[in-house]
Amino acid sequence: MRKLHPLSVNRTRYQRLSALASPAVAAVLVAVAPRLALAAQHALCLRWRVDAIDRTAGNLTETTALQWPARGTRVQVTDSTSGAILINGRTTTTDACLTFQVFGLPGDPTPPTKFRNVRVYYDTRVGTPSAGQTTGRVQARGFFTQTEDLNDTDVSVLIQNVGFALQNDGTYKATVDVGSGVAPMSISMASVSHTLHRVDTALTASAKPPAPPLLKVILQDCNYQNNWSCTNPSIGKIWLTPDATNGSTSRKFVSGHEVGHWLDYHWGGVSGTSASTGGSPDYSFSATATEQAALRETCRFTWASNNGQGNQAHAMRSQEYQHAAVREAFAHFMALFSFNEASATSNAQFRYYKTEAASAKDGSYPATDIYFAATTYTSSFLPIPFSFLDSTSGCDCTTLGNCDGTSTEMQWMRAYWWYLIRDEPGGTKPTLTDLFVQMQAVPKSATGVSCNSSTDKCYGAVTSVIPATFLARWQSVGATMGLATDNP
Ligand SMILES: [Zn+2]
Repeated sequence: MRKLHPLSVNRTRYQRLSALASPAVAAVLVAVAPRLALAAQHALCLRWRVDAIDRTAGNLTETTALQWPARGTRVQVTDSTSGAILINGRTTTTDACLTFQVFGLPGDPTPPTKFRNVRVYYDTRVGTPSAGQTTGRVQARGFFTQTEDLNDTDVSVLIQNVGFALQNDGTYKATVDVGSGVAPMSISMASVSHTLHRVDTALTASAKPPAPPLLKVILQDCNYQNNWSCTNPSIGKIWLTPDATNGSTSRKFVSGHEVGHWLDYHWGGVSGTSASTGGSPDYSFSATATEQAALRETCRFTWASNNGQGNQAHAMRSQEYQHAAVREAFAHFMALFSFNEASATSNAQFRYYKTEAASAKDGSYPATDIYFAATTYTSSFLPIPFSFLDSTSGCDCTTLGNCDGTSTEMQWMRAYWWYLIRDEPGGTKPTLTDLFVQMQAVPKSATGVSCNSSTDKCYGAVTSVIPATFLARWQSVGATMGLATDNP
């Protein structure tokens, strides 16, 4: 038997193994050191570094910081010297830390700092744990390439020689930031995981899918369009354009938007607003440059095509068929909800990501990086600082005429915001669960007042499923936001 080193009997630093280890592990170690096997508590806390272009937009403090808690993140810790696995596990969904015991041997003096290797997997489980579970019910996994996705590769990063420092309470702790500089995977995993967590924890169980689904996050162009980010919710994948300078992988609002489509599909169910469009949305309303030029400047987005990216009739304030606008706006709203406090008095922000056409003028207020908040923007026809989210006018086509039964994504996003969050419409506020349930019920396949690509009567279709408790509130929002103008 080895002699006992005096330091190793410090009870503030060590606890007896017998009280902590599983019987199988204890049996092995007891055979080696029957009276003196010891364990030291370690805590590993993970943070995503989120050096995003739009990081400071929004009023939810956690998501304007440079480091965000890496909730539910899969991690492996090994001994830096021997390579022995110390723990495989996940950080919690609350403090984003993983606590584990390291078993020592008698005579093994514990220095003030212990070095470990930490392998972080781009694999999170967030949201409210299912009954009997300890990790979040919704899983997201990140892949750099399509090939990694197809091979179902466990993509990870190894961080070596992480120092676990001795704390006053005798435990050891390390805080590790994942990613340095502009790290697209860290930004994307943080943004996706946060959006999933925030929405999932805000919903009651009845509004969630029955089984924990998996969302794959692939840092490549959309599988059907270069330079686009997109979602294919039925197969549980989103693609984020990997441009660290200006691309989707450096913008939290793009991740939030694409996750929003996935949430719409899965949480809203097959009758959610994705499906309520009756199949693929038609983004072609007045999509040619000539047609766009004929629209009021507040309702057009004449950006013809920038390296194939974008679509004139699919932008925040492009005049669109209602069924396209309502679908895209729901995704916008999920990002807005995720990066802002749901408070009627706080100043919410949304930072848009599509850039304007080669022409800087184009009549329009540029879609470039609009902050939808007070004191942020002046335009040629709105020559004062303007809050698009908070205003009752100024960004809808209805009040400027030439609406033709259409609307903009901004109109619908603002409608969701005012309906769910704002005080001014009066009456009882719906919860997020109420909103999801209502969206699930929107008629989509019928003729008449339904929301699909042939009828396109989405305001009437939504209104038809609003319960009496919320109806006056919704109708007030519809009128204020200029939605109450379905096709005749
Ligand atoms: Zn979209």
